[in-house]
This record gives sequence, C-alpha cells and structure tokens, in this order.
Amino acid sequence: MRLVIISLVILLLAGCAQNPVTGQNDFVMMSENQEIAVGRQNDEQVKKQYKVYESKALQDYVNGVGQRIAKQSHRPGLRYHFLVLDTPEINAFALPGGYVYITRGIMAYLNSEAELAAVLGHEIGHVTARHGVRQQSAAQATNIGLTIASIFVPQVNNQVGQNLANIVSGALLSGYGREHELEADRLGAVYLSRTDYDPQAIIKVIGVLKNQELKDAELAKEEGREPRRYHGLFATHPDNDTRLQQAVGEADKNAAAHAHVEGRNEFLAATDGMVFNDNSEQGVVRNNRFYHGELGISLQFPEAWQVHNLPTALIAISPQGEAKLLMKADEKPSGSPSEYARRLGGYNAQIKQIEVNGLSAALIDLPDSVGGVIYANKQAFILQGQAKTRQSLAARRNEIIDTIYSFHALTAEERKLIRPLSIHVITARQGDTYARLAQNSPLGKSAESYLRLINAQYPDGEPQAGQRIKIVE
Ligand SMILES: [Zn+2]
Repeated sequence: MRLVIISLVILLLAGCAQNPVTGQNDFVMMSENQEIAVGRQNDEQVKKQYKVYESKALQDYVNGVGQRIAKQSHRPGLRYHFLVLDTPEINAFALPGGYVYITRGIMAYLNSEAELAAVLGHEIGHVTARHGVRQQSAAQATNIGLTIASIFVPQVNNQVGQNLANIVSGALLSGYGREHELEADRLGAVYLSRTDYDPQAIIKVIGVLKNQELKDAELAKEEGREPRRYHGLFATHPDNDTRLQQAVGEADKNAAAHAHVEGRNEFLAATDGMVFNDNSEQGVVRNNRFYHGELGISLQFPEAWQVHNLPTALIAISPQGEAKLLMKADEKPSGSPSEYARRLGGYNAQIKQIEVNGLSAALIDLPDSVGGVIYANKQAFILQGQAKTRQSLAARRNEIIDTIYSFHALTAEERKLIRPLSIHVITARQGDTYARLAQNSPLGKSAESYLRLINAQYPDGEPQAGQRIKIVE
C-alpha cells in the first residue's frame, strides 16, 4: 500500500501537461515517458490475462490498418502497438502510451476494413486524447485508476470475491464515460477521413454491435453463458445520438472529395478461417460444464455460478460473489494425491483419500477453504474453494464438493462438443437464405441469428446471389 502512495505523490508532482489534441494544458499527472511506461507495464498484464491470437497474417493485417490511421492522428510520433486477442469477448481497448487491443470476438461482427478502422480509430482517439491518463488522474482520489496495475492477477489475491467477477468479465476495461467516448468517436472520425475511410463506418459499427448485444443477451440465456458486451461506448450512446452524428458529419465534410476505401473484400479475406466463439484449445464452457480436449477432462460447476476460463486458471464465482472455486493444473505432480494434498494443505488440513469417477484423488479440508486434488492423464488438477467468511464457505461447501466429484475423463461423446468453430467466407448462390444456411450448422438453434449478426443483416436481411458472406463451420 505504501508503495502505491509514494508513486501517487510522484505522479502528482508531474503536474500539468499539454494535451496533444487540444493543445491546452490538462491537469494530468504524467509525462509522456511515464505514460508509455504505464502502458508497457499493463501490456504485460494484458498478455498474461489474454492469449494473443495465433495468426501472423491477421496480426499483420490489423497492425497495418492501425499504423496507417495512427500516422494521421494527433500523436503520429508515438510508437503504436496493435494486437488481436484470442477471446470471444466483444471488446477493444487502449492503454496509455499507444497500446491498442482488439478481440477476434469483435472482429467476427465486422464486415469491412473501414469498420475495423473505425474501431481502431476510436481506440487511437483514447490514446491521443490521453483519456487513460486523465481518467487515472481523476480517479486517484478514489483509487480506481490505480487498480489497473494490480487487478489482473486475481490469483495472488487471497481475499475472495470482491469485484473479481467484474474484473475478469472485463468491466475494468469498460470504457471511459460518455464524454470521453464521444471525444474518441470524434477523433476516430477525423482520423478515418484523413486515411480515406468513410467516417460513417463508426456509426455503422455501433449499430452492428448494438444488434449483437441485444441478441446476445437472449442467446446467452439459451446457451447458459455470460452475455458478451462491448465496452461502455455502446451502453452510453446509441447510434442515433445527435452529437455523434454531428461529430461524424463534421469529419465527413472535411474528407477529401475522392472515393472512400471500404475494403470489404480485403477484410473478409483477412478474417476467413478465424476462430469463432470459444477456442477449443483453451477448453469450452457450455451450460456451466467445462470441457478441455487436450487435457482430456470435464467437470460441472454449480448452476448460476459464473465460470471464467482464463489462460492460467479456471475460476467460478458464486451468484453473490461471496465464494469462488479455482482450478489449476500441475503438469509434474509428485507423490500420491493424498501426499500432494498434504503438502498443499499443511499439517492443519484434514486429508481424505477418495476416488472420483475412477480417478484417484484427495479432499482437503481447512477452516477457511475446501478443495481437492485429482490425478488425471499424468497431471494433477487442483481445485480450491474459498469464501469471504466461514459461514459462506459452509453454505457453499456442498456445491464445491459436488463440483470436485463431477470431475471425469472426457468421453468420446463430449469430445465432439469441443470442436473449434471458425468463420468461412463463401459466395451466396441464388435462393440462399440464412435459414437454409443455418440448417445443420454447429451453432444449433441460434445459427440463423448468428449468421445474420456476423453478416450485418440482422434482423431480417437475406444474402443476394453472388454476395460474399460469412458462415460458421
Ligand atoms: Zn471507447
């Protein structure tokens, strides 16, 4: 805690700095070098939290578009980094100092390079206007902004619950408030027009993602998962926001007379083959059941708990957030499950040797935690349940134990469920409809809606013969 206070004081001493966009002095507490350092530090945390999407071609494409826009921004000298993250979450965000992230989740819903440019341009706007830094300065009194540095490592935090659910579901990166979002849109529109993209793409993207959000709330219920929401932007302004229309119209007026680049074919070619929804390499969650093909395991979490599949751990959080259950894997366990459990729990722990669906295992009981160690496929899977108080642990104990006992080696039937889905670009033929294309789709009963959404033809558009459209296979 003391370290935090000291660094705050240093930041306060940095005082005012000139805003790159307005040219006026801002009450920001950070120099550009400090800003870049904050960005770099948090970039490492982002990469711990998310996997980088493994496609050099797609990364290069996004970086190319991003760099072109950044050159036309108010801070062309800054070194920008653009990264596609391997997550189905619908998100894009920026860190101070030029670090911009876009998820493959959001890219699935875009349909042109101009729309990609709109998302990147908006995020570049947050960087050039130094919103992260300004917000951090404003938030320092209440300590909100500073949590950005520490918040990404929930597993080191032994106190369960508090805000963890919010954090892992991305609320931390939930935008900058209405005024800053509008400013980022305005700046994004200017940068788009300077790069020969149509600034109207911003309004189009907002419309597409608004549809996605509305429909996804329904789909999430059916599929028993968390809805995928884009960041604060779309919660704070609708696509018919008059100030947004004005800002974009202004940029439009200043745009050169020559034709805008739409880049639909380029974008579709770049995203052809991209993974859609869960990436099975990281395991999938369906109806609170977790399946992992490579590890060859499955287990069922309690109903109504939120399950978050992070690269380093699987975390389930109870409905009121008062308890959590964490699962990690150890690739090289030594000794029996009971011996392993004894080392983990220490001499105060009660260890009970058990068998879980044919797998050797052990239960660990401590006054303030309950867990288990299960050996499967030469690995140890460690489950640890904790709660804010001993009472809430007692109340949740049965659910935690049930989850441990649900653990089993993946069956052949389950293995079929975890096939990765990806986007494929096809040419629509005469008479193709989304209903017909949805038949036998691995997306199941939601397929028709998904196809319309990813092709920006929701709620009732149909493909035209000869049109390049996306399907999911
Ligand atoms: Zn934003």
